[in-house]
Amino acid sequence: MSWFDRLRKGLEKTRALIKRGFSSIDSENLEELERALLSADVGPKSTEFLLEALKSKHNTYPRESLPILMENIITSLFPPSSDVLDLFSKDKWVIFVVGVNGSGKTTTIGKLGYVLKQRGRSAIFVAADTFRAAAIEQLEIWGERSGIPVVKHREDSDPGAVVYDGIKAAQSRDVDIVIVDTAGRLHTKYNLMEELKKVKGIIERERGEYKLYTLLVIDATMGQNAINQTRMFNEALGINGLAVAKLDGTAKGGVIIGIASELKIPVVLVGVGEEIEDMQSFNKEEFVDALFWEMN
Ligand code: GDP
Repeated sequence: MSWFDRLRKGLEKTRALIKRGFSSIDSENLEELERALLSADVGPKSTEFLLEALKSKHNTYPRESLPILMENIITSLFPPSSDVLDLFSKDKWVIFVVGVNGSGKTTTIGKLGYVLKQRGRSAIFVAADTFRAAAIEQLEIWGERSGIPVVKHREDSDPGAVVYDGIKAAQSRDVDIVIVDTAGRLHTKYNLMEELKKVKGIIERERGEYKLYTLLVIDATMGQNAINQTRMFNEALGINGLAVAKLDGTAKGGVIIGIASELKIPVVLVGVGEEIEDMQSFNKEEFVDALFWEMN
């Protein structure tokens, strides 16, 4: 299956909602569409913006062409797409991956390592979520799947020490990409953000010629909560880009539209399933094409 087919399939539930919203529009009444956009978790502010934009024009358009009008309005909300996989295809990078537990961090790391390796890049994974043995094991499984070595320490060891070793290993083996998995929740005596800031400080200090990219993974099924999480992580750590995982399991795929209009942080990767091929760069034209598939 092509990437576009995977994306289209992943967005099925969200698309069905929006389609229903459009099918019940009459000349004055946009309520059903409003309800659909809210259910798709586009968010109240962005929904209002989209409806206002549509209202200002919809009388001069035939009803059948409203979806394409909306498609254009949504596309204009997104910043210009820049392909993060292209970015990682040159230079050396430490990709610092953060996000709450269960958001899809480890899976995203596994898929990202795989696609970068396919593009001829060498990589290592660093198991810096030392608070859960299962997290280390899971990263090793992804390492095996994609043929990428994993730098790890024992459970409960210092995450900063693993990151230090990971960067040194990459430098001595001349590896292109270091992908760091981190904890998403800690024992209560620790503060997650403080711990992550420390780890980031170590990366900054040791990275040498490697560039640093801080990637936040959010779970699309969390809808508007994902936007709040993003604000929190961004304040503490400074986020370069968002990976939105689990777009397939949900009708809340509209959250990406809310993110585009409410946050300054670009969505750079999307995940639409648990398979190794189920992740690619986010491209706004491709995304809206998939979202409005066969609606026009
Ligand atoms: P972590 O705790 O943040 O490292 O999250 P995991 O990577 O372990 O993912 C949590 C669960 O979500 C696992 O069961 C994954 O298989 C699942 N998952 C991750 N990404 C996706 C996705 O894009 N689509 C679907 N359907 N499931 C996903």
